[in-house]
Amino acid sequence: MSKVNKGIQCSFCGISKNEALMLIAGDGAHICDRCVTQAGEILAEEINQRKNKSLQSTLQLIKPLEIKEHLDQYVIGQDDAKKVISVAVYNHYKRLNQKSSADETEIEKSNLIIVGETGTGKTLLAKTVAKILNVPFSIVDATVLTEAGYVGEDVESILTRLLQAADYDVEAAERGIIYIDEIDKIARKSDNPSITRDVSGEGVQQALLKILEGTNVNVPPQGGRKHPDQKMITVNTSNILFICGGAFDGIQKKIANRLRTQTVGFKMNEDEEEIDLNNLYKYITPQDLKNFGLIPELIGRLPVLSYLNPLDKETLLSILTKPKNALIKQYIKLFEYEGIELKFDPEVYEFIVDKAWEFKLGARGLRSICEAIMLDAMFETPSTKDTSESKQLHITLDYAKTKFAKSDLKKLKVA
Ligand code: ADP
Repeated sequence: MSKVNKGIQCSFCGISKNEALMLIAGDGAHICDRCVTQAGEILAEEINQRKNKSLQSTLQLIKPLEIKEHLDQYVIGQDDAKKVISVAVYNHYKRLNQKSSADETEIEKSNLIIVGETGTGKTLLAKTVAKILNVPFSIVDATVLTEAGYVGEDVESILTRLLQAADYDVEAAERGIIYIDEIDKIARKSDNPSITRDVSGEGVQQALLKILEGTNVNVPPQGGRKHPDQKMITVNTSNILFICGGAFDGIQKKIANRLRTQTVGFKMNEDEEEIDLNNLYKYITPQDLKNFGLIPELIGRLPVLSYLNPLDKETLLSILTKPKNALIKQYIKLFEYEGIELKFDPEVYEFIVDKAWEFKLGARGLRSICEAIMLDAMFETPSTKDTSESKQLHITLDYAKTKFAKSDLKKLKVA
């Protein structure tokens, strides 16, 4: 391309070379600076629209059954929660896609609350759903939040993380998923309103209401109050899906009490099976959450309630070996990069599960125990000379026991 001679006009708008800032020549045609700018704008708009359309169609394409099948690859068990989440997520994005239609019936947002012991897969479920849908995802801990103006993070910081996860693409963030962990920790401290303000409990619940429901929030892009001069970004939360999770320690007792007063002989109904006392979470109702200290307005904004089962040894064993990115598969891959074939005796798996069970570490403990067993091998093998002997590493039960015995057990207990 080169600048053109005098007397030549823009082939698009007809402006002469004298009037235009610049004319660019192509093969038998010319274009002026203004037409280039305009064409650029049209192109940008079109690309944006196509991006949105493709986003919508990908969201629409994933049906609840498919979502559940994807979840099955990463999360072991928890079928009830998986079903509930798959339907809620599907409905949420269906609602989002149909927003522009003339349909009068407005589908309400299906924010979720998942109750279950720590380490049973609440975060994993939320994270995996976001990955399947290919939407931005962030995790926040409710315990760090306080009412505006107090030490701690303002609730708006929840959105800062999502924006960062979306690479500051506001539109993408506005369709994202936020997982709020430890929602039980912001329960009302007591039933009686005290003289001192409950700034990290009920105050935060109040502050969350609007965000969960859907509103425009001015978000500090860098978060916190460390950058007071930063320009705020407005994020609309109407289409952000919130998933809250918590262990709600002690809620089992409240559930049991409720069931006892409701039923004679501790049976729900004559033809129903007996109540499973080992897993009272599955009988949870919004009323129990209220009794625990969540305010009714917050419960109302989390209309979908589900629970996770406690993990038994069998499930722990599956978690260790079966998911697509199971821990054992990860170690095998790590060693494969070193050109080493890693093999475990099946008894080692049982040993790892037994220890996780013994120390009440749940699924999270599996990793700490594996690390304790594998640390020396991972430390030494990269520096081992490339002899034929070093091409295979066989982890026997004796090896696992020895390495585990050498590790810092006390540290594991608090892990
Ligand atoms: P929670 O949020 O319930 O405290 P996480 O989802 O963070 O627990 O689980 C901790 C780790 O334990 C996960 O990263 C995952 O490796 C493992 N895990 C827990 N539950 C499951 C499960 N049902 N299936 C597969 N892995 C699990």
